[in-house]
Amino acid sequence: MAAANAHYYATRDPLGAGGDFTTAPEISQMFGELIGLWCADLWDRAGRPDAAWVELGPGRGTLAADALRAMAKAGFSPPVHFVETSPVLRAEQAKRVPDATWHDDVEELPTDRPLLIVANEFFDALPIRQLVRRGAAWHERLVACQDTLFLPIPGKQVPDEVIPAHLRDAPAGAIIETSPASVGVMRVLAARIVAQGGAMLAVDYGYEGPAVGDTLQAVRGHAYANPFEEPGERDLTAHVDFATLGMVGHASGAIVSGPVGQGAFLRALGIDARAAALARNMPEVLADRDRLVDAMGDLFKVLALRQADWPEPAGFA
Ligand code: SAH
Repeated sequence: MAAANAHYYATRDPLGAGGDFTTAPEISQMFGELIGLWCADLWDRAGRPDAAWVELGPGRGTLAADALRAMAKAGFSPPVHFVETSPVLRAEQAKRVPDATWHDDVEELPTDRPLLIVANEFFDALPIRQLVRRGAAWHERLVACQDTLFLPIPGKQVPDEVIPAHLRDAPAGAIIETSPASVGVMRVLAARIVAQGGAMLAVDYGYEGPAVGDTLQAVRGHAYANPFEEPGERDLTAHVDFATLGMVGHASGAIVSGPVGQGAFLRALGIDARAAALARNMPEVLADRDRLVDAMGDLFKVLALRQADWPEPAGFA
């Protein structure tokens, strides 16, 4: 999954009508603006420290451009750091945010100041591992290559203790997912926030796991596709286990808010008022608002972490 997605993102801009999928910041400027105001408000109430603004997997840079514009109006114009591995998407991001500093890995982020970190549809692109129940035992699910065809096959048996106790008796065929890569990123960032100050906002489609379910999926041309065909040519994603990410933040000493639904979060930040104001000149924003708040509102979830000295973030009450 890691290799397939690395090739996929390195070789195209997948976003938008002509691509494979679209995301909240590409649907409407309101999304990035409200996230920018969330950051500026937190920074203001934290006493206006000399913080850096970070985005993980910024796509085309649309969210960043919208957020930075809104933050600047609130008096917050921080240095910008992007964590992005794709050269094609780095070039897109540079068109909209030319002064950013790019990194391949979260380990390279600045260590000398508070970090305000945003991640939209980033964790869902990181690789997962699946465990499958066969008969009475659990096995890792692997992928075999036959000619040009990839097939899921059962791997070695894993000890029952690997499986959370409440899921061990799941029926034959049940699948449980874990994402060591996501947990690793979260651990690094939570430790940085605790040591340096700041906060993180993660938005993605997800659930509060660990739970039974196969959420690995592929999209191509805005339609679901077989994830085992054409590796590297289809976007592979898995739903994000927000309970586990929150637990990692908590175990690192950060304060965790949420997860809450994206719809409730955006409404708490004032999307209805913003949509009504924009609709005077652009009536179509009302449909965008419905898409962000209603269609995506429960499936997509929002989680925040912060250092204990930082104020409570907006949107989670
Ligand atoms: N946040 C954007 C794009 C989401 S697509 C939006 O909401 O529109 C996923 C993004 O994460 C892309 O920019 C992709 O290149 C980046 N990405 C995926 N895997 C990555 C990895 N392992 N390290 C850094 N960036 C990654």
